[in-house]
Amino acid sequence: MPRQRPPFPSNKGLFGKPSAINNVETWSIIPRIIREGADWFASVGSEKSKGTKSFSLVGKVNNVGLVEVPLGTSLGKIVFDIGGGIPGGKKYKATQMGGPSGGVIPIEHVNVPVDYESVTALGAIMGSGGLVVMDEDSCMVDVAKFFLQFTRDESCGKCAPCRAGIPKLLALLNKITSGKGTLQDIDTILELSEMIQKASICGLGQTAPNPAISTIRHFREEYEAHIIDKKCPAALCQSLFRAPCQHTCPVGLDVPGYISLIKNDKPEEAYKLIMQRLPLPMTVGRVCPHPCERKCRRGQVDQPISIRHLKRYASDYAYEHGLSYTPKVKAAKAEKVAVIGAGPAGLAAAWDLTVEGYKVTVFEALPVAGGMLAVGIPEYRLPKEILNKEIDNIKKLGIEIKLNSPVKDVDALFKEGFKAVFIGIGAHKGDKMGIPGEELEGVYDAIEFLRNINLGKDTKIGKKVAVVGGGNSAIDAARIALRKGAEEVHIVYRREKADMPAEEEEISAAEEEGIKLHLLTAPVKVIGKAGKVAGIECNKMALGDFDKSGRRSPKPITGSEYTIEIDTLIEAIGQRPDTDSLKLGSIKTGKGGTLVADKRTLATDQQGVFAGGDAFTGPWTVIEAIASGHPGLTGRIPKISHTRTYRQPMRRPRNAPGLA
Ligand SMILES: Cc1cc2nc3c(=O)[nH]c(=O)nc-3n(C[C@H](O)[C@H](O)[C@H](O)COP(=O)(O)OP(=O)(O)OC[C@H]3O[C@@H](n4cnc5c(N)ncnc54)[C@H](O)[C@@H]3O)c2cc1C
Repeated sequence: MPRQRPPFPSNKGLFGKPSAINNVETWSIIPRIIREGADWFASVGSEKSKGTKSFSLVGKVNNVGLVEVPLGTSLGKIVFDIGGGIPGGKKYKATQMGGPSGGVIPIEHVNVPVDYESVTALGAIMGSGGLVVMDEDSCMVDVAKFFLQFTRDESCGKCAPCRAGIPKLLALLNKITSGKGTLQDIDTILELSEMIQKASICGLGQTAPNPAISTIRHFREEYEAHIIDKKCPAALCQSLFRAPCQHTCPVGLDVPGYISLIKNDKPEEAYKLIMQRLPLPMTVGRVCPHPCERKCRRGQVDQPISIRHLKRYASDYAYEHGLSYTPKVKAAKAEKVAVIGAGPAGLAAAWDLTVEGYKVTVFEALPVAGGMLAVGIPEYRLPKEILNKEIDNIKKLGIEIKLNSPVKDVDALFKEGFKAVFIGIGAHKGDKMGIPGEELEGVYDAIEFLRNINLGKDTKIGKKVAVVGGGNSAIDAARIALRKGAEEVHIVYRREKADMPAEEEEISAAEEEGIKLHLLTAPVKVIGKAGKVAGIECNKMALGDFDKSGRRSPKPITGSEYTIEIDTLIEAIGQRPDTDSLKLGSIKTGKGGTLVADKRTLATDQQGVFAGGDAFTGPWTVIEAIASGHPGLTGRIPKISHTRTYRQPMRRPRNAPGLA
């Protein structure tokens, strides 16, 4: 039975004498220390933590088993080099360290040296040497629950804080995972945890709350998602959803419903079901990176169901049979709403607001509607005929889209009588590499290049083209260059193929077409001849430490420079919202030039102004842009209430599918 300490056993233990109660791992090293000496032992490990440590490496990792490493070895090395990384191409999320009384170390700290000091500083412990690796499918609230169930069962019951406190903690966590939690519950968990830690007699009670404390410390957003949005981002907490695919779909499409209708040979009904949440189904059925399929339960058996293709089938069927869907529009309201930008975010917002009864005008700077769907994604992936058909259907609802109408001043729209403004201007300004020679003739920005091609403008493309970047826009630009007469196309990317943010099928298609990938390669200089591009000097890269996204950071290899002879260079390394010609008033911009807004309501700091899509999240995906156009116009505008809630838009993770 536990008893109050001190005295500790090393002072007063068995028969009241000093007793050594160290575990087998410690005893096993003693003979070697005696044989080889203290200096030998101290030569292994980090500055303060000496020697080696054995871990039981388990969870979502390819090589499970017992591993022994010098203390100070980085967590990333254990998980990726020794453990062989995460199975099934899933994303690494965190490691739970130290057994049931330990804590989690999130992906941002994957480089942490595993020694006593560093691990403790992050709220975990070495404990029993358990290392449970977790991937994107692990729910952090559920993880806390799992470990607390263990400590609850192990509690001897001698002291009340542990005996009664742990079940109370567990009850609060259960409340949260069943969708009944409140934000106050998070504070109560932390308060109760502190009490249990301070008042319990033995180490079990003193450390039992660790999983709850550390998951809240590192994953508070995930707790909030369960409480506020009633979402389990990992699609694990059963009470919060019907099917993981539907739960993961940013617009919450009833995937099981439309698949079932298709199965029963009812494609028209399937189309109508899809249209209730997605006004651009033929488009999304072609270009969506289908996050739903990553969570498809069938994938655990063999392959996920091709959900995106089924959506495309149902919506193409409707198109080919002249069917359309028009939702019921509510009674007309007096307020007018302006939408800036006719991309998927703007169009979805216009659709929803019109259904709610508002009079919506969409202002679009370009001569065409559709945003990146029209001027970014190439025709061979998304035919204009398909896109235009969908836009026509949106217009049928009574939405006015004013083309060639760039908005220059947000405030001016209020003076024109609009009561609210939704900004969905996308991210159309290409980032620069910042290397010498970028000003030479023949250097293009991918966004501008694709826009010009899509708008039918004359664009000179040479015979030897290099594209820098690894996202969708890089692949699209490379494949377009090939279609426009280039004889040799190179893609230069600084990381490995698995790190490329572009869709896997797009990368394979590019390779099949003969486009050459230069992986682990970074440009250092654009070489010019008579003011024109003549080549690109590149460095080979080696993979170094892990970065915050869990990918290894590439570092140049000295003396590895080589030149690719080219006459055209296309830069596709990233984009940001182009706010140069749009007066934003009091609306703030943040990281990557994105507009700052509340992530749930999308309200900016300026009364009545909302922002969504790529302009808010940074370059991401069509389905995310549509989702962010759906919710949120709540509260801040008198009489305008918008109650349909869908999945809340999240910030784009660093290596999410989309753009480099
Ligand atoms: C080359 C490329 C390929 C891509 N491929 C895919 C893919 O396969 N799958 C996928 O899911 N996503 C893909 N994406 C990303 C996707 O296209 C975007 O995430 C999505 O279009 C963002 O939608 P949005 O409405 O926020 O912005 P956008 O689609 O960019 O639309 C913004 C609109 O606002 C207009 N605008 C800007 N400023 C003003 C102003 N001042 N006044 C009036 N109008 C203005 C712009 O002209 C534009 O029409 C791709 C992107 C690119 C560039």
